[in-house]
This record gives sequence, structure tokens and C-alpha cells, in this order.
Amino acid sequence: MQFEIDGEDELFRSEVRAFLQKHLSQELAIRNSRGYHFIRDDMRCWTKLLNQHGYSGANWPASWGGTGWSPLRQFIFDEECFLAGAPPVDTGGFKMIGPVIMTFGSEAMKAKYGPLILNGDIFWGQGFSEPNAGSDLASLTTRAVRDGDEYVINGQKIWTSFVESAEMIFLLAKTDPEARQRGISMILVERDTPGVTIRPIHDIGESYSLNEVFFDNVRVPVENLVGEEGKGWSYAKFLLENERAFSAEWPRNNANLIRLKSILNASQHDGSRLIDLPGFASRVASLETDLIALRWLSLRALHEKAGGRSNLPIGSLLKIRGSELLQKIGDMQVEALGSYANYVYLDPQGSPEIESAWVSGPDYAPGIMADYLYRRATTVYGGANEVQRTIIARSFLEM
Ligand SMILES: Cc1cc2nc3c(=O)[nH]c(=O)nc-3n(C[C@H](O)[C@H](O)[C@H](O)COP(=O)(O)OP(=O)(O)OC[C@H]3O[C@@H](n4cnc5c(N)ncnc54)[C@H](O)[C@@H]3O)c2cc1C
Repeated sequence: MQFEIDGEDELFRSEVRAFLQKHLSQELAIRNSRGYHFIRDDMRCWTKLLNQHGYSGANWPASWGGTGWSPLRQFIFDEECFLAGAPPVDTGGFKMIGPVIMTFGSEAMKAKYGPLILNGDIFWGQGFSEPNAGSDLASLTTRAVRDGDEYVINGQKIWTSFVESAEMIFLLAKTDPEARQRGISMILVERDTPGVTIRPIHDIGESYSLNEVFFDNVRVPVENLVGEEGKGWSYAKFLLENERAFSAEWPRNNANLIRLKSILNASQHDGSRLIDLPGFASRVASLETDLIALRWLSLRALHEKAGGRSNLPIGSLLKIRGSELLQKIGDMQVEALGSYANYVYLDPQGSPEIESAWVSGPDYAPGIMADYLYRRATTVYGGANEVQRTIIARSFLEM
């Protein structure tokens, strides 16, 4: 396991920095450094630009059309992009369904979707959870019935993030309602297929990223079945482990801690600094220690994944540590902001009318409360932390 960053990796870091300096506009960087949801058009343009320069698919091997970078280089790339304020690429495509398609999909499916994902031409919604199937996902009831060369899908999904601006949905449906896990298949659906209805759920942060999705006699070609019928559960486990491996969100945690430290170091109206108060100083030191530990854990996960050696549910470990740290840093950011924490609902697109409706405050304030409110959900989405703890316990007890 190589964790140390050597001279060549440092050179790589300099190349990434130079690339970001040249291609990332100031406007994009400011907008994406705040805590609001990323804007899809920014993500699309940025992914296309990455693709033009051979930087798309940081986590994909070269045989899939990706960069083929080592785990350490993927880590450096993500770290630098986040710190610079670059928009992210679509997690659904690059980190969730993309690897499933490229591992288990037919050759035709790989050839069709691989290039579209790499070029930011399609974005994906994840249709797993249902009103009565979240932690207990295997009890999902959405049905896919084979009818000639098509599947006919009926059912409902919920909490489907960002599907309102996606082109595709990957979903789990029962092709055999009698069987539990072995009756589940994974199917790709074009979002605009007749019979798909999307209804928004507005969240506490006043933003909109969550949805209910209804499937009413939705017909999709059988070619949209991923891999084999009845194997959807094992593909979903592969996907969820990938999702959790990235849910440590080290780059975001790192950037948020840097932002917290700049708030603590800023002069208050009386010239004092919060960092000089022992209560704040000791807590930020403790968060920094947690962040360093998370960095090593993330690097270890990337290495073990690359080598295929881990028996540990490392994705679950990362999910717990990363999500809890995001919340702890957010708590302290809001506390440190004081009354500026109310400086919250600035339009992320920076509309001048809305900006002028707010009293002026420090540059670092906008977006922090929005991010804080959204991150209440980090310990739930991607699989509740209580459930992750059971997965970890079981893996040790069954060793
Ligand atoms: C912001 C957000 C975005 C999301 N995005 C998506 C998405 O894009 N696609 C998608 O498919 N889903 C998405 N989800 C859904 C998410 O995966 C589920 O919320 C999660 O799996 C928990 O399921 P549930 O909400 O049905 O809660 P439940 O399963 O009802 O659980 C509620 C709580 O009960 C406890 N609990 C439940 N079971 C156990 C157990 N076995 N052991 C111990 N404690 C337990 C846990 O504390 C849990 O938090 C999203 C959720 C949120 C909040």
C-alpha cells in the first residue's frame, strides 16, 4: 500500500492545478464553492471540458475510456478540483450505474452508455427506495413484467435525487414477485418515457433535489435490462458499496474544514477572533484529527478496492465516519457564523435582485446554512448509519 505522495504524484498535482487555473472560470469557482446544490448546466459543461482534455472518468480504468489513474491520483484530482471550486461530475453515472454497466452490462449497453457518461451527455437518477422499502430495500414492490420484447413497469419510487434534471433512471424492480432478493432485476429507463411522472418533494433547505417517481405501465425494451434477470440485488450491492466508498466525501470535508477555519480566523467587529477562544480552538483541533484519520481511511479504501483484497465493509466504515464529520463541521460552522447563519437562502445562481434583498455580510456566509440543513440527511442517504453499523458488526462476527 502506497500512501505517501512521491515526486511524480506532486508533479501530477501541479498539472491538475495548472489545468484548473487555465480552464475553471472565477464565476464557476465562486458559485460552486458555496454550499448550495451544484447546477446541472455547470456540471455538464465541466464534464465535457474534462472529456476534451482526457480528464473525464477519473475513477474509470482506461479500458472503459477513463483516465486509468492510480487510486492516489484519483484522490489528488478530486481533492484539487473540490478545493478550486470545480463542479462535480454526475455521481449517478460515474460512480454508481457506470461501473455496474461496464462490469455486468452487455457489450451493446457498454458501447452506448460509456461514451455518453464520459461526455456528460446523460445524467442519472437512482430509483431504489420506495415508500415501504428503504433500509429494507428487498421488500420493494415495483413490478417489471415481460411482455414480448419489452418490460412493463408499474410502481413508485421516492427520494429520487436530481431526477428532475436527469435523462435516465436506473431502477430496481421485481421480475419475480414470489422471490425476495432473487426476484429483483435492474433496469434502465429513459426519464421521458410515457407513464413516468415526477413529483417534487421540497426539503427544509428550500432547495429542490428530491422527488417521487411514479411508473404507470411504462414500457422499456428488454435490452435495458442490466446483466441477467434476477441478479439486480447483487448488482445493487456492488453499486451501494461503491456509493458508500465515495460517501466519505473527503474533498468536501476538507474544504468545509478550511472554510470553518477561515471563519474562526476572521476578525469580529471588536477585533477578536473566535479561534482564540479555547472552546473553539480545541474543538477545531479535534475535527482536524478526525479529518486526517478520514484521509487515511479513504486512501486505504481506494488501495484495497484497486487490489480487490478487502474483506472489510470499508464502504460502510467510510460512510459513517464521513457523514458524521460533515455534520460536526457543519454544526460548528453555523455556531461560528452566529447571526450570519440566517444569511441563507441566497439564490445559488446569484440573481442580483435576490442578493440585494439581503443585508450584506461576510463573503463566506452564503450557502453555509443551506449545506448544513441538507447534510442532516448524510447519515440517512446511501443507507442509514445504524444499518451500516450492523453491516460492520456482522462482517466481524461472521469472520
Ligand atoms: C437527501 C436524501 C437523498 C436520497 N436520495 C435517494 C436516491 O437518489 N435514490 C434512492 O433510491 N434513495 C434515495 N434516498 C433514500 C435513502 O436511501 C433512504 O432514506 C434510506 O435508505 C433509509 O430508508 P428510509 O428513509 O425508508 O428509512 P427507514 O428504513 O424507515 O429507516 C428509518 C430509520 O430507522 C432506523 N432503522 C431502520 N432499519 C434499521 C435496522 N435494520 N437497524 C437499525 N436501525 C434501523 C434507522 O435509524 C433509519 O434511519 C435519499 C434519502 C435522502 C434523505
